[in-house]
Amino acid sequence: MLSFYGFTLEGLRSQLIQAGLPPVGAARLFNWHYKQKKTHPCDTDLAQATMAFVREHISFELPQIEQVQESEDRTVKFLFRLLDGKKIETVLIPSVKKYGICLSSQVGCAMKCSFCHTGLQGLERHLETSEIVGQYLAAQRWLNEHRPSDNRIATIVFMGQGEPLHNFDAVKGAIEIFLSQYGLSLAADKITISTAGFLPGLKRWKEEMPDVNIALSLHSTITEKRNKLIPINAKYPFEEIISLVDELPKKSKAVVIYEYLVTKDFNDSEADARHLGETLRGKRAFVNLIPFNPFPEAHYERPERSVVDQIKVILEEYGVPSLVRYTKGHDILAACGQLNSKT
Ligand code: SF4
Repeated sequence: MLSFYGFTLEGLRSQLIQAGLPPVGAARLFNWHYKQKKTHPCDTDLAQATMAFVREHISFELPQIEQVQESEDRTVKFLFRLLDGKKIETVLIPSVKKYGICLSSQVGCAMKCSFCHTGLQGLERHLETSEIVGQYLAAQRWLNEHRPSDNRIATIVFMGQGEPLHNFDAVKGAIEIFLSQYGLSLAADKITISTAGFLPGLKRWKEEMPDVNIALSLHSTITEKRNKLIPINAKYPFEEIISLVDELPKKSKAVVIYEYLVTKDFNDSEADARHLGETLRGKRAFVNLIPFNPFPEAHYERPERSVVDQIKVILEEYGVPSLVRYTKGHDILAACGQLNSKT
């Protein structure tokens, strides 16, 4: 069986044509499942032959919820079981009357960032498009059932497990479905892909996904330190990544988000902050300063709040805007860098 949630509209049209069926059924199926949010197979509006094909060849199964953890701050962390038994985590991050969803793109991750719980897990496999879209739909159904008066998912970030640009095709397929007017009709500026700086994927980005927001996990602009934090920096140095990101076409007000995870006594000194300010001075940059979120086996510690605030002040001297992000869901290990579906 093929998963319905793995098809872009064009892909499903081609599948129907190959089967000798009218392609119009694809838009009807998209409308039924994504717009009308039906949870059972479409049984109206389709030619009988198309319906028979769908019943025989297309599955509507979503990742199964194995565990749900709800934080006191209303963050929700899902542990999903996939069809092959592998597990991934997805997080709903609350804000006023809506949520952002943090999606995973791989089971584990190959990038081995030293501050990241997923990095310790290693890469088990890439996710399929259907498994990425499936996280969104399963989380939406859970919200509809458990928090019906407060169930809107307004933004998507690819900041869960995995390096999304290392699984480019599947992530691109999911984004096409999220953006499609026949799919979930989200605006491109509501979707952000976060990368550790995977250069081959960034090169494709420029041609294939220019409208979606990008966030670069920078964390240090001192090569030896960044090599320790993000080992792929040795292969794809941040200077090369930043100049490529700078070349990406942007809408008039768009900025590039640079994530800076602040770890105690490692990258939180005045010299670190000034190096960062020098590197980003004059660029259309916005820095998210994220105090490190500890997890079992972590090598780093959380910095003092005053130290993080001081980095913000220093960046202002260089004309680089920033915000200190106190991420949510610490009590359920759902904050940035804390996900690990093996523990
Ligand atoms: S921070 Fe992101 S890219 Fe790095 S190991 Fe963790 S999941 Fe992978």
